[in-house]
Amino acid sequence: MTEAAAAGMLPHFPVEVSAPDISAWTAGNTGVPGFTTLASGKPGPHVGITGLMHGNELAGAIVLEQLLRSKFVPRIGKLTVGFANLAAFARFDPAQPTASRFVDEDLNRLWDPVILNGLRRSSELDRARAMRPLIDQMDMLLDIHSMLWPSDPLILSGPTAKGRALGRLIGIPPLVIADHGHVSGPRLIDYARFTGPGPAAAVLVEAGQHWEQETVICARACLGALLRQIELEAGETPRSEIQIAEVTLAVTAATTGFAFVRNFRGGQVIPARNTLIALDGNTEIRTPHDDCMLVMPSLRPSRGHTAVRLARLL
Ligand SMILES: [Zn+2]
Repeated sequence: MTEAAAAGMLPHFPVEVSAPDISAWTAGNTGVPGFTTLASGKPGPHVGITGLMHGNELAGAIVLEQLLRSKFVPRIGKLTVGFANLAAFARFDPAQPTASRFVDEDLNRLWDPVILNGLRRSSELDRARAMRPLIDQMDMLLDIHSMLWPSDPLILSGPTAKGRALGRLIGIPPLVIADHGHVSGPRLIDYARFTGPGPAAAVLVEAGQHWEQETVICARACLGALLRQIELEAGETPRSEIQIAEVTLAVTAATTGFAFVRNFRGGQVIPARNTLIALDGNTEIRTPHDDCMLVMPSLRPSRGHTAVRLARLL
């Protein structure tokens, strides 16, 4: 069951922000609808910043629309700003805000060349295939997301050292989680261009709860940090005080009866190993080590979906 299908079982999440008007940017200037390239005319990296990978994650769309409207031009290289799932976003309804995460399937579980080169079609597969040639040109990518359940904002850096380095470079929010994605399919940040041997790197930010004002503030600060870091003169030092954690276990709900023993908040650290945190049917889920951080617990996970990631602080 999807987040949307489960909507009847969810608590009420207030929608404090409005969907932005992105109509000026849906044509774009790249040949890919929703994608606009801002070029400095000088050598430098091609940086991508995407939002709306999930159609109901408004914070990314809000800050990207503001960036485009401000007529920002990078000082070096090129910046491509993209609104990913336009079709799902077009269906956003504040009365049913969980229903427009995607049209047919999750756009952020399709980034496997075998899937992309295959014959199967869906609204999201068509979209991923349209985006792919642009993505294949990017040296660096920040994909802006938000979360349904209350959680401290964080950067997910995927499995690579270069992803972790990019997350540390951005540094806002100051928590970088190295992880291995979802069993249900690779995310854009897991795509071969960013996880293969080449230098291109990608991270995603989970800026806060989908529809809270604070999430927009965090997304804007994260985006600003990336843009500043790209343009820093050599020799300037990146920020410190960044917490790094590595996912040790991604817990996938194996039954429809998965339930946490408490309403945990993402970012919470459980001091002792072997602490019971959830029951998945009759199976006990316990912390595998001391100082175990709960990353993005989904308090009503559907079977086959990630319920929580457990991470060790580094
Ligand atoms: Zn998302």
